[in-house]
Amino acid sequence: MVNEFEIKKEICEVGRRMYEKGFVAANDGNISYRLGPGRFLCTPTLVSKGFLKPSDIAVVDDNGKQLEGARPRTSEIMLHLEIFHALPEINAVCHAHPPHATAFAVAGMEVPCCILPEVEIFLGQVPLAQYDTPGSKNFAETILPHLQNKANTILLANHGAVSCDNSLEKAYFHLETLDMYCRILLLSKQIGQIHQLPAPKVRELLDIKKRLGIADARLDGGQVAVLAGSDDFLRGFSMQAIAQHVADANGHGRGCGIAGATSQEGLPQPLPTARRIFPAVVAGRKLPGGEALGSSSSTVRSRAIEDETERLVQLITDKIITAVSA
Ligand SMILES: [Zn+2]
Repeated sequence: MVNEFEIKKEICEVGRRMYEKGFVAANDGNISYRLGPGRFLCTPTLVSKGFLKPSDIAVVDDNGKQLEGARPRTSEIMLHLEIFHALPEINAVCHAHPPHATAFAVAGMEVPCCILPEVEIFLGQVPLAQYDTPGSKNFAETILPHLQNKANTILLANHGAVSCDNSLEKAYFHLETLDMYCRILLLSKQIGQIHQLPAPKVRELLDIKKRLGIADARLDGGQVAVLAGSDDFLRGFSMQAIAQHVADANGHGRGCGIAGATSQEGLPQPLPTARRIFPAVVAGRKLPGGEALGSSSSTVRSRAIEDETERLVQLITDKIITAVSA
């Protein structure tokens, strides 16, 4: 028999941690807990999760109808109930907008897997649910296919993330692990290649996961597959290589020139942006396409074209200045 007041205090504590970690701004986010059949605790709407009191926590039934509590329950209760109804072993759900994880959700990019051992064990593959209007029944249902695939943490397109487990702390920790992981991915991509673990080593991690009794769809299928969507992130990262030349002492030339330094005009220039890439490596093999363009994003491609155009304009300007001053 759970102590309802203790669980309410625990919800307040998780809310405080989410707020202090910067996972929720203002009144964002919501937390819920299954007390028993047809009885769930949840956070109120329009109250900051950083400053909750046990008396703020609402009680709702199977359909989200409020049974107790002075403050109206969260507008996102259907998302939580969808999880409780689909997974009887789950008792706690946390929803927030952790910035690094939400960056992936906004970019429409699945988080790549098979990179950090702890993430493989405690999160596994993190799918990306389709976008729908928050609070709606359709929105709640976007996560259903992923729940059936045993995901404990799901990215919500253009929105945030939702996590679940049998205790409030575990559900909250999934959000922490996810955001730290996404932060590391974004940082590592800025300094070089991202290497995935080779398949036999991922298999060893899945064996540990099995011993710990943590579900993972890959344990059933026997497949240690890389998520297709993650290739977008792992594919080479385009370096901004804007061609530079130096200005003469008389100020001719423009860009990042250093007065007095030898002009680079006529010397080989840096390769256009689109070719200066770090190819992505997946389990020891280079990703196809990584060598060629550096990114699957049309935005980066068009930026590379702009850079190249800028370089040509500078070259022509230099020629004209040289001709005029000769
Ligand atoms: Zn939200």
